Amino acid sequence: MDTNTSMRLKPQQVRRLGVAVGLALLILVWSSYFFAYQSVQNSFTKSTESALASETTLLEDHLERSLNLVTTILLTMGEMTNITMVTPDVLTPEELQRAIGNSHVIRSLSLIDSAGLVLTSSNPGNIGKTISPDSFSDDSHDITWRIGKVRFGEVLPYRDISDWSQERTSPTQQLMPAFYSVDQDGKQLIWVATINISFFENVWSRIDHNPAVEIAIFNYTGKKVMNHHAQPVSTAEVFKQLSSAISYQDIGSFYLAQDDNFLVVYRSDSQSPMIVTSIANMDTLSADTVQTREFLLLIATLGSLLIVGVLSALYRLYIRQARAAVMSDNLLAGITTHLLMTRSDLRGRIEDVNEPMLAATGYSRAELLGKDHKILNSGLEKPELFEHMWKTLAAGEIWRGTFRNKTKSGELLWLTATIIPFRNEWGDTTHYISLYSDITQAIRLSQEYEREKAARLTLESLNQKLRSEATLDPLTQVANRRGLDEFVREMNEQKDLARMSLAVLMIDIDHFKQINDTWGHGVGDVVLQTLAEKWSGAIRSSDLLVRLGGEEFALILPRTPRISAERIAEKLCAQTASQLIEIADSDQPLRVTISIGVAYAAHVADQTIDALLSQADDALYAAKSGGRNKVVTLSVD
Ligand code: GH3
Ligand code: MG
Ligand code: MG
Repeated sequence: MDTNTSMRLKPQQVRRLGVAVGLALLILVWSSYFFAYQSVQNSFTKSTESALASETTLLEDHLERSLNLVTTILLTMGEMTNITMVTPDVLTPEELQRAIGNSHVIRSLSLIDSAGLVLTSSNPGNIGKTISPDSFSDDSHDITWRIGKVRFGEVLPYRDISDWSQERTSPTQQLMPAFYSVDQDGKQLIWVATINISFFENVWSRIDHNPAVEIAIFNYTGKKVMNHHAQPVSTAEVFKQLSSAISYQDIGSFYLAQDDNFLVVYRSDSQSPMIVTSIANMDTLSADTVQTREFLLLIATLGSLLIVGVLSALYRLYIRQARAAVMSDNLLAGITTHLLMTRSDLRGRIEDVNEPMLAATGYSRAELLGKDHKILNSGLEKPELFEHMWKTLAAGEIWRGTFRNKTKSGELLWLTATIIPFRNEWGDTTHYISLYSDITQAIRLSQEYEREKAARLTLESLNQKLRSEATLDPLTQVANRRGLDEFVREMNEQKDLARMSLAVLMIDIDHFKQINDTWGHGVGDVVLQTLAEKWSGAIRSSDLLVRLGGEEFALILPRTPRISAERIAEKLCAQTASQLIEIADSDQPLRVTISIGVAYAAHVADQTIDALLSQADDALYAAKSGGRNKVVTLSVD
């Protein structure tokens, strides 16, 4: 019968715990999001880098092979003129064309002297033309790269070698000259091969799925030789940076310059006078990861909402349960202090009992525990009552009833009981909980009350009888003189008595003696009764009809204006005169008349009731002498 609340967490603790768990989960979700996003970004950058690097390598290899070819041809031709002393006149254009073979990399192969005069060329149109020595001399500023004795010049748009010095702005083709000096018999000769840079476009066009916004070839002066599928993105800044970054130490290595959102990959080679670069715009690239980021963001947001939602729902659930628990605790505490309780097993043996029950029965806990409920039986109740109780409980239903038990000292204990079959979580009845209200006191009080009430009623009715007998006229059942006295006494207690108006009517039946004499005293009585009843029904409840004696009546009308009193008198007079009174043993109904004297006082304080009665009597006398069946008012003003 105890309640235990100590093990329960307080709502503040639960809320604090919930907030902590929620924050931890939110931190976990969002750090996971940032980590995942970062790794997506990183792997994307890495894959972009490797894609750029592989295509750079492809181009670089091609460039290298082409330049090797050029170098080899120049060395072969150099050997021919230097060691085997083949003279220019033997080297016909056809012969030189054969040396180039079907390589599209080399556009022309020519032999010039130290003054720049073309001695022979694979292009016959070049022969006899002159190239400025500034273009190929060892200290020429146009020379960008040297591999041994092979020198590479600036890439410029040339139509052919003869336009070299004249038409530098011709845009038709990008050519790069390569020079190789030999000595023939003390005379300096120079082999010139022009490299067709545009040819590399063939290679670029083979590269698909390229993440680069631009692929470009630079020479070692930092000048862009050519570029491919450049996007409308300004990469001028990148190239500027690249030009300043390039140094001979970088040769043969990859280089990543990540700045201003550009990723540049380039590779140079010690055998190459040119650098191949691939440039990716990180903004464009990261646009591809936006979808991934949005997806991750969505997941993280939904996760956060779920966490907050679930936690707040759990908290609400907890609060609801806690509230219900506290309420049931309070309720239980109230019940256990207010009601008498026992818990018994299915055979009716007491398992537990609360303090109020012990106090009411006078037993100690030890005396009741384990005992059958019968220990409390008074033996006064019929066995059917308890049979019905057991039947109801066996059906799993609540039983209610009132019976008498017996305390330890043998006194009667009236109990109103509610017995509940108590079920466990599986729905099986495990024991019975009995709640009792001790109504002994109430029963005792009500018995006392009933006794008192009966006694009071007897007295009251006796009094009533006595009172009515004393104040009522037994023949007509209207007030007698004592009734009038009582009425006057009550009236005197009225608060506004002094200002109250009062009218008194004195009524007397005309020639009543004759009725008695003619029809007998009994008929006279009937007449008296009939008229008194008739008049009683015609007056207000606040008025009083009094039989003063014989056939003389008075009608007291409090709070009645004089005019109204006179009207009432006239009405009574007329009604009585027109009333037919049935007489036993006679076909002829009787008809009587009355005379009325009226007295009136505007304020009760001015007159005593007796004075008014006597004035009314005087008025009545006047009415009698005036011929009867009439109303006379004596003015007292
Ligand atoms: P008046 O018109 O002047 O009033 O003449 P009256 O005959 O009515 O007056 P009187 O006072 O001479 O007669 C009253 C009679 O009323 C006398 C008496 O016998 C009769 N009486 C008095 N009390 C009762 C009663 O209780 N019952 C009956 N039946 N008659 C009564
Ligand atoms: Mg009379
Ligand atoms: Mg009389």
